Parts: sequence; structure tokens; C-alpha cells
Amino acid sequence: MAEHNFDLVVLGGGSGGYAAALRASELGMTVGLIEKGKLGGTCLHVGCIPTKALLHSAEVADVTRESAKYGVTATLEGIDIAGVTKYRQDIVDSKYKGLQGLIKMRGITVIEGEGKLVAPNTVQVGDETVVGKNIVLATGSYSRSLPGLDIGGRVITSEQALELDFVPKKVAVLGGGVIGVEFSSIWKSWGTDVTIIEGLPHLVPAEDESVSKQFERAFRRRGIKFHTGVRFKSVEQNDDGVVVTLENGETVEAELLLVAVGRGPSTAGLGFEEVGVEMDRGFVLTNDRLATNVEGVYAVGDIVPGLQLAHRGFQHGIFVAEELAGLKPIVIDDLHIPKVTYSNPEVASVGLTEAKAIELHGADKVKAYDYNLSGNGKSSIIGTAGSIKVVRVVDGPVIGVHMIGARVGEQIGEAQLIVNWEAHPEDITPLLHAHPTQNEALGEAFLALAGKPLHA
Ligand code: FAD
Repeated sequence: MAEHNFDLVVLGGGSGGYAAALRASELGMTVGLIEKGKLGGTCLHVGCIPTKALLHSAEVADVTRESAKYGVTATLEGIDIAGVTKYRQDIVDSKYKGLQGLIKMRGITVIEGEGKLVAPNTVQVGDETVVGKNIVLATGSYSRSLPGLDIGGRVITSEQALELDFVPKKVAVLGGGVIGVEFSSIWKSWGTDVTIIEGLPHLVPAEDESVSKQFERAFRRRGIKFHTGVRFKSVEQNDDGVVVTLENGETVEAELLLVAVGRGPSTAGLGFEEVGVEMDRGFVLTNDRLATNVEGVYAVGDIVPGLQLAHRGFQHGIFVAEELAGLKPIVIDDLHIPKVTYSNPEVASVGLTEAKAIELHGADKVKAYDYNLSGNGKSSIIGTAGSIKVVRVVDGPVIGVHMIGARVGEQIGEAQLIVNWEAHPEDITPLLHAHPTQNEALGEAFLALAGKPLHA
């Protein structure tokens, strides 16, 4: 029985946990980081990074298919899934190695094993007792299913989808949110017949409705089929595949069913409730400074209700470390966190949708401008359609930006600064966007919103 004592103990080494550990050690705290799997967690090993590698492979396939349009003669002969897997895993491995090096360099003690909170300041890991002046809970999330829908066999989650060693011929995808459309996009580019089932009225339902509708048109043009506004009823598995029945009686037959209906908090059986931490349906409740109701216990990342994104986890981790160091960091507002849906096309947004802005401020106080990428030179060159919508308060700041088109995620950083800093379009228009870039389209949207459109 060994006892370890630290200034900070972090339970879970994913985006939120390792960010807390890195920042805390930088600020002079001794840190014990407990991880039962691999440092880097979901994002590095089975989330953000490997899926984006697959998407890049998918993009290469699309570009090859369309190469004649650019005057290049090339033929897509097929997808070598072993090659794709190697490319993906090499990237993950190199990032993992880098992270391990960083953790070591910062002098963080990694304790391998499954931890359980046994007292407000103590985590038990097997025989080892790990005591901290403060504790950060960062145990992340898992792929959720629906009642009566068991994962197994031909019914898979994103984790198994990543591990497939073949390109499926026909897939049904339950859920038209970020993860569902990401895999749909990848598979379609690789030649799979894809059908999405989404219970809400639109695909990417959390986005501005004009973006969701454009997204649906783009997916339809790509030949991706979808049923929206209809709920899943049941699934039957047989030797050849699955038959998914919808509540309206329609059926979808496929080789596999990917369940992408959201992620639940990984908190069951970890002692949080027993120690008195207030929870809600498995999520850990915190105040806006990420402190739980138990003194000295904080929570970060996907287990905290709200957006489940890696960069939110990073920011949570940094926030808690700085809070403990007495630096009084600025409260993180989910509304100001940029969101990107990675697919072909890409969707990126920050702030309020037009509908939400009208609901909050009234229709006469809100002005929106939707700039079509057909007016943007670089978009025509790279062959993408889409738009950039900016939403402002009349005579006031920009409160929302919503983009769709190839690689628009690369532009959301600028939009995030503008929304966070409550800039007015009139403040932004004197600032230049290089020509010809896709980013110019954002500048054009602000010009139009400030009442002086150029190419609009
Ligand atoms: P996690 O990353 O899940 O880390 C939790 C860690 O805690 C894990 O390593 C786990 O092993 C460990 N752990 C759990 N319980 C214990 C215990 N009892 N003892 C010890 N260790 C424990 N987000 C983006 O921002 N961009 C993207 O492009 C993106 N793509 C995604 C694609 C997919 C397919 C998925 C599934 C997710 C994606 N996400 C993306 C979401 C992102 O991965 C998560 O928001 C992020 O990983 C959350 O970080 P976290 O630290 O809260 O949890």
C-alpha cells in the first residue's frame, strides 16, 4: 500500500485532464495524473485525430475522382484500408509520443490504473492511495446508445467504425449530428452507400437552419441518403446485415448500423456520488468556476454538462489550474466556443443562430447577412460551394457567425475573436483580408452587414 501526495490529483488523462495537469505543473504545482488507458484519451486515440486523418484520406479520394475538372488525368483505383489505417495510426502514435514526452518533461507523475474517488481529497488506484490538496475529475465520455438498441455484431459505435479493416458497401447511420455526418462523409467518399436516420427535422440540427438546409442539399448532391424528423424503432440483425425499422414503418437495410446518438458521461461506479458530488443523469454539476459542491473537487471536459469538444476540455483544464493558482481566469461561456463539423462540406459556427438571436433580442433588433461563396474567387478555384452568415445586433456587435463550405473550420478562429470581443462590423471592415483567400468571404460578409457591400 503506497500513498502519494500531490498539490493536484487529476483523474483521467484526456483533453481536459492532461491540460489541467500541464498547466498546473507549469504554475509550480506537483501533479499526479491517473489514467487507466492511454494519455490523450478519446480525442487523440479514437476521436478528433484519427477521424480527421480518415477524412483527409476521403478528401484525397474525392479530389482524385474529380481531377479531370482541374485538368489532371488520374483515376481512383480503390481504397487500401490497410494503407489508410497505417497513415492514421502513424499520426496518432507520433502525437501520443509527443504528449508523453511533454508530460514527462513537465515532471508530472503518471499513475496507471483505474481510479476511484474515495474521499474528497483521495483517489484509490488499486493498492495505491493518491491524495491531493485538490482533485480534478476528468473521466470523459462514452458512445451512448438508445433504449432497446444493443451495441454488438453489426451494430457499432464510432470506436468500432474506426477499426473496420474493410470499406463497407452499405451503411445505415443513426444520428445526423457531428459524429454521424463525419463518418457518413468519409464512407461516401470511399464509395459506400450511406443512409442517415435523424429524429430531429434536419441534419446537423444544432446549427443555424439555413446552414443545416444547405448541408442537406450538399449531402443529397453527393448521393448520401437521409431520413429526417423520424425516429428509430428497432433493428434486426441477420447473417447479411441489419434491417432498421423506423417509427413511420419505413425500413433501411445495410451491412452495418453505426450508432451516433451522442455521448454519455463516464462517471458510473467511480465514487463521485458516494463522496457527495452533486450529479445530474451522470454528469457532474459545477458552478461557472468548474468547482463541484464538494470543496477541493473540480470537474472538466465531457463530464460537465454542455458542449463535448476537445478544445472546451483543454480550456476547462487550463481554467482550473489557473483558478487554483489564484490567477482568476475568465469564465468560459459555451456560447463563445467555436464548433466545427468536419465533413464534406464542413460546417463551422460560433455564437447565436439567427433564430436564437431573434428570440433573445427581437426581430427588429437583429440583422443577418448570408454571403454566398460563389462570389469568392478562392472558393471557385478550389471548387467549393457554401456561405458565410453573420448575425449582428442592429447598431451593435456581431453575435453569431455560421459557415459552410470546404475548410471553413480554418476560419472560425477569426469569427470567434470577433464574437468574443463583441466587435461591431464597422470595427472590422477597415481590417483587410488577403486576396484571394476563402477568408475574404468573411470580410465581405462584414462589409455587407456594415452597409457597404463590395462583391455582394
Ligand atoms: P476523454 O478524452 O474521454 O478522456 C477521459 C480519460 O479518462 C480517458 O483517457 C479515460 O481512459 C480516462 N479515465 C476514465 N475513467 C477513468 C478512471 N476511473 N481512472 C483512470 N482513468 C480514467 N472534439 C473536438 O473538439 N473536435 C473533434 O474533431 C472531435 N472529434 C471527435 C470524433 C469522435 C469520433 C469522438 C468520439 C469524439 C470527438 N470529439 C471531438 C470529442 C472529444 O474527443 C472530446 O470532447 C474530448 O476527448 C473530451 O475530453 P475529456 O478529457 O473530457 O475526456
